[in-house]
Parts: sequence; C-alpha cells; structure tokens
Amino acid sequence: MATDDTPSPQPYRVLARKYRPRTFAELIGQDAMVRTLTNAIHADRLPHAFILTGVRGVGKTSTARIIARALNCIGEDGNGGPTPESCGVCAHCLAITEDRHVDVIEMDAASRTGVNDIRELIDGVRYRPVDARFKIYIIDEVHMLSSSAFNALLKTLEEPPEHVKFIFATTETRKVPVTVLSRCQRFDLRRVDAETLIAHFNSVSKQESATVAEGAMGLIARAADGSVRDGLSLLDQAIAHAGNADGDEVSEEAVREMLGLADGGLIYDLFAAAMQGTVDEALNIFNQLYDAGADPAIVLQDLLQLTHWLTRIKLSPSAAEGQGISQMDRQRGLSLAETLSVPVLGRTWQLLLKGLSEVQSLPSSAQAAEMVLIRLAYMSDMPSPADLVRTLKDNPTSPATAPSTSAPSLSPSNASQDDGGARMAGGMRGHDAMPQQTPMEDPEPLPPIQETQQAPVVDEQSTRFQCFEQIVAMFEERREGILHATLVNHVHLVRFEPGHIALRTEPAAPSDLATRVSKFLNEWTGDQWLVSLSEEAGEPTIREQLDAKEAARRGRATSHPLVQAALEAFPGATVEAVIERAPEEFPDSVEEDDTDDDTVTEKADS
Ligand SMILES: [Zn+2]
Repeated sequence: MATDDTPSPQPYRVLARKYRPRTFAELIGQDAMVRTLTNAIHADRLPHAFILTGVRGVGKTSTARIIARALNCIGEDGNGGPTPESCGVCAHCLAITEDRHVDVIEMDAASRTGVNDIRELIDGVRYRPVDARFKIYIIDEVHMLSSSAFNALLKTLEEPPEHVKFIFATTETRKVPVTVLSRCQRFDLRRVDAETLIAHFNSVSKQESATVAEGAMGLIARAADGSVRDGLSLLDQAIAHAGNADGDEVSEEAVREMLGLADGGLIYDLFAAAMQGTVDEALNIFNQLYDAGADPAIVLQDLLQLTHWLTRIKLSPSAAEGQGISQMDRQRGLSLAETLSVPVLGRTWQLLLKGLSEVQSLPSSAQAAEMVLIRLAYMSDMPSPADLVRTLKDNPTSPATAPSTSAPSLSPSNASQDDGGARMAGGMRGHDAMPQQTPMEDPEPLPPIQETQQAPVVDEQSTRFQCFEQIVAMFEERREGILHATLVNHVHLVRFEPGHIALRTEPAAPSDLATRVSKFLNEWTGDQWLVSLSEEAGEPTIREQLDAKEAARRGRATSHPLVQAALEAFPGATVEAVIERAPEEFPDSVEEDDTDDDTVTEKADS
C-alpha cells in the first residue's frame, strides 16, 4: 500500500479518533442502517445479537459502540431508557466512549480465536450486568473464531439471557457459520461514496483550520476507497506533510507524492501518446516516470483510472463538474475524452487490465509495462469492428474494382504481434483489397444461393444451356417444385451436353424421372432432349455441392483475419451467414477474385 511507506512520527489516528462518530447522527454514509436501528430502538424491538458487516474502516466498531451507548444511556437526568440519541454525558455514555465500561466487553476475535477465550467470555454471560441495563459483548472480526469457539457461542445465542446483547463485526460474512448468522440481525455498512467522504473531510479540515486543494481532497477520497477511517488517516498525513503552518494549502501535488501516485500531467501525456500511436513518445514518458521512482503497476493503475474517468465524462460530461475533481481532470479530461470513442476506451480498459495482471505477475515489471504500452499504441491505430463494418459498407467492392494484384500485404511487425488487436491491424491493411467473400453485413440484400443458379434468361434454344444447373433452375422457374427438389437432392449428374443428359438417381427419386424431365424439356425448349439413366457414380448432388460450397465459404470466411479479429473482439460471436457481394456461380466474373481470396486466406494462416 502506498500509504504504508510514508514515515510519519505522528500517530495516524489523531483525526480518525478525534472525529470518531459518537451518535448515529455523526455516522456518515450509513443512512439506511441508521434508520433501521433507530426504528428498532424506538419500537423496543432490539435483537439479542447484531452482526455488522462491511469493508474495513467503514465504521463497524464505531457503530457497535454507538449501539452500546444507545442501549445503556440513562440520559442527563438518569431516568432515560434506550435511545437512538444517546446523551453523551451520563456515566454510561462517558464510560463507553472512554472504553472503560465494565458491562461493555470488547474482544478482538483476530487475536483470541480459541475455544477457551470464548468459554471465558461466555462464563460471564450468566451474571447480571454490574450497573448498566445490558451486558454487551462486542466481538470484532468474529469470522476469525475457530469452529469449536463458534459452537460454544452458538449455545448461548440459542438461549440468550434477557440482560445480554451480542454485537458482532466482520469483514467476511461468508466465513461466519450460517447457524450463527441466522441468530443475528444483520446490518450491512456500505462503502461511503467519494462525494460523502469529500464533504466530511472538508468539514473536518475546516474544523482543523487546514486548507486542502479540491483536487487533493479528491485524491484522498479516492484512495480511501469508501473507508472513513482510512480517509481521515490520509488527511492527517497530508496536513502533516504540508507543514502544518496555518494557511498552507495542501496541494494536489503533495498528496499525489504522498500517495505514491505518478505525476498526473505525465499520466495524461502518456495516455495521449499511446492513443495517438506514438510509441517512442509513450516509452519516453514511461521511462521518465520509472526513473522518477514510479512503480510500473501503479502507472498502469493510473492509466486504468484515467480510462475510467474519460469514459465516465464521455458518457456524462457533467461528472466533470463534481466535487473533488481536479482542474486537470476537468479540462484535459474533457478535451481528451472528446477525441476518443467509447468502444476505443472499452478496449483500452481491457488491454490495460490484462496488462496490469502481467505487470504484477512478471519479475521484469518495467518491460512488461512497456509491452503493454506498445500494444496500446498499436491498438489505437486499429479500427473497431463496428468501424470495419462501416468502412466495408461504404466501399462495396465489386468484382470489377477488385484487381487480382491487390492482395493484402501483412507487414511483419503486425503479423508477428500475437495479440488480437495486432492481427486485426494486419487485416486492416488488407482491407482495401477486400475480396468479395467478405463475410460482413452487406448493405444491399443479395440473392440467396438458390436464386443464383437460376438461368438469367430462359432461351428457347437448348444450345443456350451450358450446364445441368441451368436446366434444374428452369424447373424451379416453371414451378415444377417437386421435380426441382428431386433434381437438386436425389440426382447425380453423370454427363451433360446440350440435348443429352445422363443421370444416376437415388432410390428416393421416382422411377419415371428421366421420362418426365425430357418431356418437360422438349416442351419448354422446343428441342429434343434425351435424358438417360446411368449406373456411373457421377457428381455429388446439387444439394451436396451447395452444402460443400457453403461449408468451404464459411470456413474461408471464418479463417479470414478480419473475421478472426471480429470473433475475438466479440466473445461468443459465431459466423451466422456468409453473404457474397457477387454470385460466383457465374464463371466468367469470378476467377480473379477467387485467386485474391485464396491469397488472403493463405497469408492470414501463415
Ligand atoms: Zn447517556
């Protein structure tokens, strides 16, 4: 932790102790819990056992003491009953505040986990309180108790004497046995949000006659991470750091230094350089930070925090007007956020997050961080999948404009990058030469496969029919659906020449198929057609050919670097349909592009 290595002769807890809440009203950021407790006290429906949960420093033990006071306060006149607004001046309130009440027993389960510790404590349960209304046991970090200790405790919880209350506090409810949990009323203390912390710390620093810059307070609140106590300790240090002289403002710079945070301006410079793809500059700035003693992991954390901030103000610029926002975050943040899209920020976040875990797990963290920055710079260069789709839509590549010579060139630097982003960049370089088989959304709906095999014009001359597929297509056009389906699914072409077709039929085909086909052909074309049956294997059926073609196309499409990149960018995505820009079934227009496509596929695979 950045806070641990700042040597300070002063005890940190000065402010935290001085401003420790003594009443529910002073407890900040826990309104819901305070309301429930207040109602319970008013209605005299207090549980025998409370369990207070929440992260460290959020106010669990303070709350336990506030409850203890509320239960035992007798008021200024000595006649009061339990009250949410404890007086603070009666003997019980004072004794509890000063940690010396004989009937309020505090135990830290972290240091006394054994069954004997609990037995000793439980032994006392059966004695009435010495002079208070209730005997109150406060057990902090209760999840640390051993299981035998929990068992011993459980018996008491099952039948607690009227005069006893238990208040447990824990950071880890899951480690508390359900049997114990089920006998307690649970109160969850929330992490206190930054706004509330800032307001509280501002009021504390005012009472301390200390001036703290807005940005500095923002940093302290952020570092406190929801904990009032941690935040007050940091504020304490910051004030001590600034020299304590009246009127000396605690600057953002000083707090940044105290927290071990890298220079905010340089972090902005670094982020901007990486996003502009200027690797040299990014690495220079990083080295500058590193030489100045910045921890590479902290630099990445700062970049992550900045990414989060930019995304936030991108989505709602008014967030920049909030409390505790530094001038730099406000001004530079807004102008930088303007230049970046939310998807880019999202990818930046993911890349940094992954990079951070690498930096933390590798011994050479500076090198790892440099690699992350390099990846970031390359990524910024690359369009998002959505942009790619848009670009492709804007530049529909017709066969005429896709020259065979424009095979994409993958530059070695990109091809050798092992991360998805770089592969995508490689694909991008080839994008302007995109062959027809680009399996991306197409703006214009294209004819489905069945239609493309239809003969464009049904000529009356049989010599116009160059292939079996054209004949089959005519059966569809003439609405001979059953015959068409049979020809597609159950017929293998053995030989085709205008005027003569040899077929092998599958058992599913009707026995008079050949006769019927020739009859229709004679009728439609006015020519004589001989349709004969053969025992030779012949070609696969048209259906099989289409399926194979579709599978191949899908395979080709899926292995295309652009699609690979898209699939990687959208986890869980699959190739649903491959739509062609031009029907390759027309043999005279397709050769060039086939070549082109193969080139792409090969290069991408290597
Ligand atoms: Zn009192």
